Amino acid sequence: MPSSFILSRRDLDFLLHEWLDVESLTGRPRFAEHSRQTFDAVMDLAEQIATDHFAPHNRKADENEPHVVDGEVVLIPEVAEALKVFTDAGFMACSFDEEYGGMQLPHTVGQAVFAWFMAANVGTSAYPFLTMGNARLLLAHGSQEQVDTYARPQLEGRWFGTMALSEPQAGSSLADITTRAVPQDDGSYRLTGTKMWISGGDHQLTENIVHLVLARIPGGPPGTKGISLFVVPKFLVEPDGSPGERNDVVLAGLNHKMGYRGTTNTLLNFGEGRHTPGGRAGAVGYLVGKPHRGLTYMFSMMNEARIGVGVGATALGYTGYLHALEYARTRTQGRPVAAKGMTSTGASSPMVPIIEHPDVRRMLLAAKSYAEGGMALSLYCARLVDEEQTAEAPEERARAHLLLDVLTPIAKAWPSQWGPVADDLAIQVHGGYGYTRDHPVEQFYRDNRLNPIHEGTQGIQSLDLLGRKVVMQGGAGLRLLGETITTTTARAAGTEWAGFAADLGAAVARMGAVTSTLWGTGDPDLALANSHVYLEAAGHVVVAWLWLEQALACGGSSSVFHEGKRAAARYFWRWELPRTRGQFDLLESLDRTVLDTPAQVL
Ligand SMILES: Cc1cc2nc3c(=O)[nH]c(=O)nc-3n(C[C@H](O)[C@H](O)[C@H](O)COP(=O)(O)OP(=O)(O)OC[C@H]3O[C@@H](n4cnc5c(N)ncnc54)[C@H](O)[C@@H]3O)c2cc1C
Repeated sequence: MPSSFILSRRDLDFLLHEWLDVESLTGRPRFAEHSRQTFDAVMDLAEQIATDHFAPHNRKADENEPHVVDGEVVLIPEVAEALKVFTDAGFMACSFDEEYGGMQLPHTVGQAVFAWFMAANVGTSAYPFLTMGNARLLLAHGSQEQVDTYARPQLEGRWFGTMALSEPQAGSSLADITTRAVPQDDGSYRLTGTKMWISGGDHQLTENIVHLVLARIPGGPPGTKGISLFVVPKFLVEPDGSPGERNDVVLAGLNHKMGYRGTTNTLLNFGEGRHTPGGRAGAVGYLVGKPHRGLTYMFSMMNEARIGVGVGATALGYTGYLHALEYARTRTQGRPVAAKGMTSTGASSPMVPIIEHPDVRRMLLAAKSYAEGGMALSLYCARLVDEEQTAEAPEERARAHLLLDVLTPIAKAWPSQWGPVADDLAIQVHGGYGYTRDHPVEQFYRDNRLNPIHEGTQGIQSLDLLGRKVVMQGGAGLRLLGETITTTTARAAGTEWAGFAADLGAAVARMGAVTSTLWGTGDPDLALANSHVYLEAAGHVVVAWLWLEQALACGGSSSVFHEGKRAAARYFWRWELPRTRGQFDLLESLDRTVLDTPAQVL
């Protein structure tokens, strides 16, 4: 029985310690100050703050979305209160360097920590999520002055940040952004343009907001190679570091969303002239790194950002599953088939908790396999980030980097597809009650529905996987993935999981063959036309592998928890992995149905 309906601490401990052995990271200089005790303490604190300060206002924030009063965005006060507790506890900088006030935790632990906040209240968690991403980008590519002026106040939680990429006419295709940045004599730039969908784009939570904005410097190359990155603060910063003159970036409107309602989401105008810093219109911005390298900088942080979205999608699916599990144990309805058979109506025997019905257990097993499988995928990829950054041998770092590159579209897309399915099943387990606002599962579903859309849609992830990742370096990433999975299947020989390993091995071989068939056509349009099916099949193969890994990590342990893991592993093997056969058949047939359907007949 879980002690929390937010996440399962028992499962996180299993994944972090019994499986991924994060404690071994403390042997590396970067994590030498840490131990199992410090990891446990920080997880305890995350659970406590998520439970006491984030979860209680999740529904209230959903029902009272941000609104504008006298030109200012107003949020319910609980959001600021929760974020103050979060920041005071040091979570904003938990995996950052000590030099920046961070705890220098491994990313693996940092992601597990942040999963608590996302599962408890994803709308409030989005502010630190964006702020951490913003600061990380500045630390990687900004000047020391930019780090001190803009990243430090964010890591201290005094200012929050945004990522301002999208425009009304340019979402998936950032090559088509039109925001302009004109160089000035003093080395700064003046920006004009409109950014759409900017999360955390305006609010009164902090005294300043640091926008990271993609824009074009006139005269630069067209397309993606002519996009630069700028820091644009809401208030220009005085020499002493305090916020000064109001910059010319203004709120043009709020978007009213299906979910994630606690996160203010904005249309922002840059340089419309409402404010006149230095006496004239134009948003003052400062170039980050070199001109025209903006998208490269953004993409360099993409792996971690996309894992983060995967963690959020998993966390929301996970909390949906735990709520459904509790409901199914307590809601009584109907009688077992056998009991009905003994009397004409079965009505004389007592009703049973719905978890006694096999079809309800089917839904719970499916949701469990998506939630725990997604968490395994997210934390495995976070562990690769730690390997990529701290492994002693350069070849180990390179190996982790390559594997992470090929897994990233899956780490983003698989939880974003199946996390919402877990929430959908959680609604179904609740029956009619799940369709009301008296239970939280409908909100989890609405919140989670964003994840297949932002940070690269599922369609864009599928093109990344099939169009780039599995063919890059002559297919080296795909080969490495296959070899890594084979190491696991070899360990299963002679165990009760040998059959699972054989089926998984066949699926991996099929994936390699299908990839060759698709690209063997010499026709990229045909190869990529069914890329979404490829992404789905590849995702299921990868998560099946991680379920086999988890099953093996259970060893001979016979606790209820470990039996639950085995049951979910068996479910994924028998019910989910076989889905890929039909998907690979379709791909292998080079089906042209979608490709050849003209737009005008739809
Ligand atoms: C709630 C929310 C928060 C957001 N937060 C931010 C933020 O903080 N900062 C930010 O910069 N952006 C943010 N976004 C924007 C988000 O990243 C975009 O919505 C997303 O990239 C998709 O762009 P779009 O909405 O313009 O859709 P489009 O790009 O128009 O896509 C519409 C459909 O067409 C498909 N499609 C488009 N191009 C192709 C192609 N080449 N091949 C195949 N299919 C294609 C897509 O997959 C999708 O299904 C947010 C969006 C939302 C909804």
